[in-house]
Amino acid sequence: MAQLVEVINSGSSSIKYQLIDLADPKAPVVWASGLAEAIGEPGSRLTHRTRIGRGPEAEFAETVYDGDLPDHAAGFAAITVAFDLTGPISDVGEVVAFGHRVVHGGSYFAAPAVVDDAVLEAIADCIPLAPLHNPAHLAGIVAAMAANPGVPNVVVFDTAFHQTMPPAAYTYAIDTEVARENRIRKYGFHGTSHAYVSRVAVDHLGLDPATARVITLHLGNGASTCAVAGGRSIDTSMGMTPLAGLVMGTRSGDIDPAIPGHLQRTADMTADDVDALLNKRSGLKGLCGANDLREIQARAADGDTDAQLALDVYARRVRSYLASHMVELGGADAIVFTAGVGENDARMRAQICQDLAWLGIALDREANTTGAGVRVISQYRAPVTVMVVPTDEELEIARQTLSVLG
Ligand code: ADP
Repeated sequence: MAQLVEVINSGSSSIKYQLIDLADPKAPVVWASGLAEAIGEPGSRLTHRTRIGRGPEAEFAETVYDGDLPDHAAGFAAITVAFDLTGPISDVGEVVAFGHRVVHGGSYFAAPAVVDDAVLEAIADCIPLAPLHNPAHLAGIVAAMAANPGVPNVVVFDTAFHQTMPPAAYTYAIDTEVARENRIRKYGFHGTSHAYVSRVAVDHLGLDPATARVITLHLGNGASTCAVAGGRSIDTSMGMTPLAGLVMGTRSGDIDPAIPGHLQRTADMTADDVDALLNKRSGLKGLCGANDLREIQARAADGDTDAQLALDVYARRVRSYLASHMVELGGADAIVFTAGVGENDARMRAQICQDLAWLGIALDREANTTGAGVRVISQYRAPVTVMVVPTDEELEIARQTLSVLG
């Protein structure tokens, strides 16, 4: 019998969804996916894709509905109509739950939760920690509940996986009173991705899940690392916000904490100006004007020194977190590359792992530059196994949604 979970990711002006059948957990099937966009703006529309056929070679049919979507409730109504009109095929079954991605669960949630009034209140209480994301998630959850009464809603948090970090990892060295009052601590993000790819790696390599030491490198537009000991996050590179840690597409990652104050005092910038600078005009984009590694690699290969410096700063930061996680874990059984850069950029993987044989890390040149899917890219005898594992946050949200419902 089908085990259908509809995974929902609500943004401020969008709702992304996937209908996933987990009846066979080893072979999940995505029956439909879609995007309602420009909600509350001119030009709103819904793109709905439906799987045709059950086999692995199945294709998807795409239907676009143009129409006014003034709010998330209208978005959900349109999604319901799309499912009614264009499927998926009628014998797929009934949705057993909605699984909502929520960015910030603060210190409230170390696991997914079935939505009730207290859960909604706790998500609202975390709005100051994620002012752009959590209100949009709440709007999506409330709309999903109203549109589908009787179907349980589960929330899966980006932060939850990292709630196992020890105090020494999540505490910032500032006045404890100020920190407590303002909930300032490291929370970490990308938790569903780190949880998913570390588990896939442990399964694939046949490691003991209770003791495996895995370092996950989620390198996408946003990027973070995680040290996973026995299936639990013990440290991560992002912080109280997703601005900390690695150099990202447009985000600075770690900088001297005195820089924002300096800019406000001397460069006539407001706190919001500094926020915008560090979030949108920094990282790779700030360094060389581009944030897509494909373009940056091509420019560097043509001798562009700004592009080369951007790559060097990027790789150096990943290496320093890699080394710090190896110290925290007392070594590593596996290192996992994932997300857009981690899955696709063999040159960046090689740069990150360069000259680390003394740490037990040695890539196999051929394995690193060929192959697809879940794969080992380190040398056969290297003490640390380096892998590529394509991430699938929707699948992980679906899986966690079902697990919390028992
Ligand atoms: P997001 O954080 O938006 O989910 P992704 O994980 O999709 O990001 O990663 C997007 C980034 O991955 C792109 O900006 C680009 O830098 C990088 N990327 C994607 N494909 C490739 C590729 N073939 N080679 C190098 N980099 C790539």
